Parts: sequence; C-alpha cells; structure tokens
Amino acid sequence: MKQLRNYIGGEWVRSATTEWQEITNPATGESLGQVPLSTRADVDSAVQAATHAFKTWRETPPVVRARYLFKLKFLLDQHFDEIAKIVTRENGKTLDEARGSLKRGIENVEYACGTPALMMGKTLEDVASGIDCEFVRQPMGVFAAITPFNFPAMVPLWFLPYAVATGNTFVLKPSEQVPLSQIRIFELAHEAGFPPGVLNLVNGARDVVNAILEHPGITGVSFVGSSPVAKHVYTTAAAHGKRVQALGGAKNHIVVMPDADFDRAVSVVSESIFGCTGQRCLAGSIIVGTGKAYKPLREKLLANAKAINVGYGLDEGVTMGPVVSHKHRERVLSYIEHGVGEGATMTLDGRKTTVDKYPSGAFVGPTIFEDVDPSMKIAREEIFGPVASVTHSETLDDAIEAVRMNPFANAVSIFTTSGKSAREFRYRVGVSMIGVNIGVAAPMAFFPFGGTKGSFFGDLKANGTDGIEFYTDKKVVISRWT
Ligand code: NAD
Repeated sequence: MKQLRNYIGGEWVRSATTEWQEITNPATGESLGQVPLSTRADVDSAVQAATHAFKTWRETPPVVRARYLFKLKFLLDQHFDEIAKIVTRENGKTLDEARGSLKRGIENVEYACGTPALMMGKTLEDVASGIDCEFVRQPMGVFAAITPFNFPAMVPLWFLPYAVATGNTFVLKPSEQVPLSQIRIFELAHEAGFPPGVLNLVNGARDVVNAILEHPGITGVSFVGSSPVAKHVYTTAAAHGKRVQALGGAKNHIVVMPDADFDRAVSVVSESIFGCTGQRCLAGSIIVGTGKAYKPLREKLLANAKAINVGYGLDEGVTMGPVVSHKHRERVLSYIEHGVGEGATMTLDGRKTTVDKYPSGAFVGPTIFEDVDPSMKIAREEIFGPVASVTHSETLDDAIEAVRMNPFANAVSIFTTSGKSAREFRYRVGVSMIGVNIGVAAPMAFFPFGGTKGSFFGDLKANGTDGIEFYTDKKVVISRWT
C-alpha cells in the first residue's frame, strides 16, 4: 500500500500522523494509496522551511526565478499525458477533460514566466519640486493555497506559479481526495531545481487547513472550494491578519434566447451541464429557455443527454466519468430525491445508471428536471453533479431577474444572435464570468478568475494581474536628494 509523503524543505518526509485516508479510483473502486491527514506540527515544519527559504528566494532576481518556472513548464509538457492519466484515475473525469484542464494549468506557469515585466513598478519625477516618487512591488513572505477535488492538477497551478514568481515561498494543501497529480507535479518541481523550502506540500484535511489559517508565519491564503468553507477560510484567515482570496461554489444559469443558433447552443449547453460530470464551478445548472426557445431546447437537450456514454474516463469512447466518490454520489442522489419530493418533473433519471465493466464505480447518469420552482432546494443549492433544471421564462428581463435573485454569482451564459440582448445581459446580470454563446465561461490565465456574492470572498481574484497583485505589496518610496 503506497503511503504518501509530504514535501517539506526539498525532501519527501513522512507525516507524524496516525490518521490515513484511502484514495480510490472512483470508476474502478481500485485503491490508489493512502494520504496522511497531517498534523499542525507538519504544517509548522513546512512554514519554517518556507520562512527560511524566503530570505534568499526574494533576493533571487525575477528573471532567474522565472527560469525555474520555464523548467517546470518544460517538464509538465514532457509528462503531460502521464499527469492527465493520474487526474483521470484519482478524480474520474475523462482523459480529454483531464488534458484540457492540465493545459489550462500550464498556461498559468507560462504567464508567471513573465514576472520580470509583470512585477514592474512605476515612477514619477517631481511629484513636488525636486521630489521623486516610485512604487515597487515586493514579495511578502510565505503564502499557502488550499484546493478542491474537481481540478486536481489545474487549480493549484492557479496559485503556485504566481506566488513563487513574485518571490514568495509557498505551501500547498491539495484536496485529500485527489493528491496524486500534485505529488507528481511537485516531483517535477524538485527536478526543475527549485531551492529547498520554496515549494512545500502538506497533505491533509480540515486540521491542516485550520493550522494554515491560524499560523502566524503565513502571510496570505488562497482558497478554492465550496462556499461554506470559503467563508470560513476568509473570516478565519482575515481574523489572523492574513491576506485572503477565497473562491467558492456556484449555481450557474444558462439563458437561451429564441433567436439562438440552436444546433450549436444545445451541444455547448449540454457540454456545460454534463462535462466533468457536472463537477465544475462553471457548469451550467439552471437552463432557462426564453419564450419560444423552451420547447426545442428541452427536446434537443434531452436527446443529447441520452447519447452520453458513461464509463471509465480512460476507456475509448467514454464521454462522462463517475463523480469523485461514493460519498459524493450519495450527496448528488439525495438532491435528486429532494427534487422529486418537492414536485419537480423528472424528465431524465440518472439514479440507476451503472456500468457493467465497473460495478464498484460511483456513477450517476445525466439527470434533467423540469417544472422547477426557484424556491426548491435543487434550484437554490449547488448540486455538483450531472443534474440540470430546464426552466422557462417569458422574456430576457425575467431571465435576468432569475439570475440576479440567486445567491451565487460565479458564471452565467447567454445564447443569442442579438447583440442588443447580449449587451443588455452582460450589463445587468451581476455575475462575474459571463459567456456569450459560450457554455463554460472560463477566463484564461491572463484574465481574472472568480465570482462575486456567495461565490467569492475577497478582493483580488485568481490568475492574471490579480495574481501578481495578490502576492505582492506595493511599496511607495518618496525621495529628495539635495
Ligand atoms: P470543499 O470545500 O469540500 O474542500 C475544499 C478544500 O477545503 C479541501 O482542500 C478540503 O480539504 C478543505 N476543507 C473541506 N472541508 C473543510 C472544513 N470544514 N474546514 C476546513 N477545510 C475544509 O470543496 P470540494 O468538494 O473539494 O470542491 C468542490 C467545490 O469547489 C464546489 O463547491 C465548487 O464550486 C468549488 N470550486 C470553485 C471554483 C471557483 O473558481 N470558484 C473552482 C473549483 C471548484
């Protein structure tokens, strides 16, 4: 049985914990090893190593720091399929989905390689007679990131490259459900030659998170996960004087107008709902057919959903994998039960879906509800599975109002051929990531990523220039030389 280690101070070390958790392939049920639920002492060792490394790492020229990231990028490309397969094994998503997400992660490494330009400050001479003023960006110390199960390779790469490119040192706490791809990525970072202590990885669950949030040696925390935990991370870390960005959950609407290009829209919407088995913070969850769009939309969506091939993501021809675990499957099934109990009409029932070859898999088939009232649990809460509600609104105004009433505000999409409708929608909808004829409005590495309202706690989002801002302090120097 493979027992995972933590990576601290440039070495793979065994946690002192007595608690270990099984890692399971959600499609096959096969055990992939055991992850330590590490202790406060493990977190403290990582913070000490990172604090020690910070002294020389911050003095390392940005152009030299970037070269370590170039090496990491090269190694990630070289081991691309190997890492993608690990993601499929530990998380369940299809190999194509794993590849796509890893590519998105690597783009953040590429972006952070531009740190010599991205970190530049500004200067103004003669702010008063004979007085000059400049601001420089400086790294701040040790940053930590805490990440979710749904993008095991990508989400940590939203933070790691920016934190270390800007001269900070870093502690990662990956999801205890899917730590294996990060272990491999850290092995590659070791091969890239990052000095000991610059990058550290501590496996574990809530005790490790709380130790991070309270540790006086940690300057700031990046978090991605569900909204209740995001809020806990935000309030606790802030109460301990830290900088925080906490990206939370979602309940994304997709509005389809009667003038939409239907054939294209339906396949894109279907991918948004069922891609990654619905375990995406950008997944479409409430599909709003506006006016005459409703009837053809529900019919075509249903046909598309029925054509989905559920199975093991490493097998040829499979278009949807299992959910991440049996525990999560139970959670998704209980939402479906609630939908039935609250009186929604079940148009497609994925509860009994099984895959003959993998009787132990955590499979849930595509599920579609209609006649869903906004007050129902399935309309209000994040299900995080392949379950969609297809609803109807009379006008664009009604659809916008439905979106605005939702407590989450992560992503939203509209499908239309009218520029006026698209403009009206993006102007008023109040959600941070907006797709126009796009089903999964995922900003690329050089744009800010994150929601608002119940989907985000903090100020600066992930990725892009927000990433550089989050990990640096702007120091202003005012000088007079006589
Ligand atoms: P989660 O909140 O259960 O776990 C996220 C991290 O927090 C994990 O590392 C976990 O160990 C830790 N954690 C869990 N419970 C905790 C607790 N009580 N106290 C302290 N730490 C705790 O989330 P998940 O199930 O791993 O991931 C799915 C969620 O992540 C969904 O809600 C999804 O929408 C969200 N997500 C959001 C984005 C975004 O960009 N907004 C991106 C990806 C995922």
